[in-house]
Amino acid sequence: MSVVAIVIARMGSARLPGKVMMDLAGQPVLRWVIGAALHAPGVDEVIIATTTEPRDDVIEAWCDKNDVLVYRGPEDDVLARVVGAVATYKSARAVVRLTADCPFLDSQVIGAVVRLWKTAGCAYASNIEPRTWPDGLDVECFSVEAMWAADAEAARPIDRECVTTWIARNRSRFPAENLTCPFNLGHERWVLDTEDDLAFCREVVRHIGKKKPASYLDILRLLDERPHLRAYNAHHPVNERYHEAVANEPIIERTHTRSQAQFERAHQVIPLASQTFSKSHIQFGREAPLFVSHGQGGLVWDTDGNEYVDMVSALLPNVLGYRDCDVDAAIRRQLCSGISFSLATELEAQLAETLCRLIPCAEMVRFAKNGTDVTTAAVRLARAYTGRDKVIICGGYHGWADWTVAGTDRDLGVPNKVARLTDRVPFGTSLDFLHDIAAVVVEPEHDPRYLQYLRERCSRDGAVLIFDEVLTGFRFDLGGAQKLHGVTPDLACFGKAMANGMPLSALVGRADIMRKLEPPNPCAFFSGTFGGEALSLAAAIATIDKLERENVIEKLWHCGRALRQDAERLRDDQGLGNLITFTGEPPLTRLKFRDQTIADTFRRAMIASGTLIIASNNVCWAHTANDMKRVSKSYDHAFAEVRKICAS
Ligand code: PMP
Repeated sequence: MSVVAIVIARMGSARLPGKVMMDLAGQPVLRWVIGAALHAPGVDEVIIATTTEPRDDVIEAWCDKNDVLVYRGPEDDVLARVVGAVATYKSARAVVRLTADCPFLDSQVIGAVVRLWKTAGCAYASNIEPRTWPDGLDVECFSVEAMWAADAEAARPIDRECVTTWIARNRSRFPAENLTCPFNLGHERWVLDTEDDLAFCREVVRHIGKKKPASYLDILRLLDERPHLRAYNAHHPVNERYHEAVANEPIIERTHTRSQAQFERAHQVIPLASQTFSKSHIQFGREAPLFVSHGQGGLVWDTDGNEYVDMVSALLPNVLGYRDCDVDAAIRRQLCSGISFSLATELEAQLAETLCRLIPCAEMVRFAKNGTDVTTAAVRLARAYTGRDKVIICGGYHGWADWTVAGTDRDLGVPNKVARLTDRVPFGTSLDFLHDIAAVVVEPEHDPRYLQYLRERCSRDGAVLIFDEVLTGFRFDLGGAQKLHGVTPDLACFGKAMANGMPLSALVGRADIMRKLEPPNPCAFFSGTFGGEALSLAAAIATIDKLERENVIEKLWHCGRALRQDAERLRDDQGLGNLITFTGEPPLTRLKFRDQTIADTFRRAMIASGTLIIASNNVCWAHTANDMKRVSKSYDHAFAEVRKICAS
């Protein structure tokens, strides 16, 4: 099985013309890259793919002189150039894509990616998604079949320029693997793209000498000894070329053939063809993309290879972004010790202490998996504590348990006896008499005056006030909406964002109430096999740590506010102010539509133009300025579509 490394090289770089032939310790940069490729275990041949432009004659001449294979193809179609180069090496089964502006490419890392490709049996292996290796150590390895498919089907200029973006997007067709760096070096910049980078590279080689092949560990050791070297090029932004291009391109057509076929298949064996109402065709419509293959940051890809800015954020767990390097590293670290155990772990108290430090009402904590687990436990505990049975729900959704779905139009299977114990009233309702009420359950999204009113009534009449912070927790404020609004409940429920996508929820509250969860009997029963599952606890510790460290919540407010302002302006431009309104706080801005037809038209047009959305802006920390630009463009398109149906 032959593997050919293609090194993409040209003189016409916009930022640093001629960089690939610049001198680095007596050799052109290109020579460094070729050296790494030639020494990479598993690479059988190395070919330079340059352009037919006259200015690249110098590259061909150098290759000829140094016995290096070279292929020349179109400058503006890099994919075609790679295909042409590979075609000259008939026995190739896999292609390694390297670029000539990475002088510190490490042959062992190249070899490891090639080996991953071989052993995992995937179509595409890389070390760039997510970025855990230094920028400048990029390696991608893919089957020639994937390359041919990309050549035949990738039509967008940016996909032809970036070579592998089309393959990486179509993950359902081309299964992918990532080689993760054990040390998370994603913030290091070792690439050669600017004068500052050149100065950095020259300093590095001045110190490590011409030792070939240099290992990335040699460079790391040098940087440990001389950390000031990083200052040479520390302030250069991450390359957003692909995302910039996508944000500026016209709306492209999307098909969902694979997704539709998957629906037919899944529906045979899975009621709803999904595990969640809000992620199913009931929410999005049968014509929508219904299956995703992967996510990264604030983006997701459906099984047909279409890319979306994700304004659903997995129904809000995704607060930092998909494949967050810090959270994923914490999960991997824990994975080295185990997942679920026969006894409790120290992680439980560690996370519980953090929650008690951050959340005003939290004196004690118990963990579970879903929001439903903890809202249900909270209600049971309130009943146990007060000796009363009745519960009042002040609007909102609190999960799928009997006590809360009673009285909704999906309450089949809920015994009448249970239903009679729940009273559902709209948010804002006056509650005068609570002497026979065990608990008042409310989502504290807004209106601190009403929340304070409930606080006083519950205290006066001995009812337990429960804040369901499953949505607001770790999104509105680190201490929840109760901290933001200055109203402290007796018990509160958290879930969703606290572990950035890992299944974890927490019941927190007053110690005298929480103690009812332990003997002496009779006590309230709340216990489960997976309550202390360690990957989720490790993920939550890392998530909350990052939320604090990076001021994530502040960014959610800022980003959400800017997006809402933009969307309102675009709506007003179309004269739709009386049909579509925005409410709620910026981290979770909600849309309200005059009727369902408008809501459906809006959502369809948003998705068709590349924004996955239900009816709220669920911003996450990883959303970039380019992502927000795309969402605004979608809003513009969707409002125009709504206007069309209103005019007709
Ligand atoms: N409470 C609120 C406020 C929620 O939004 C949800 C879920 N959307 C739940 C409880 C139930 O959480 P889960 O789906 O994790 O059981």
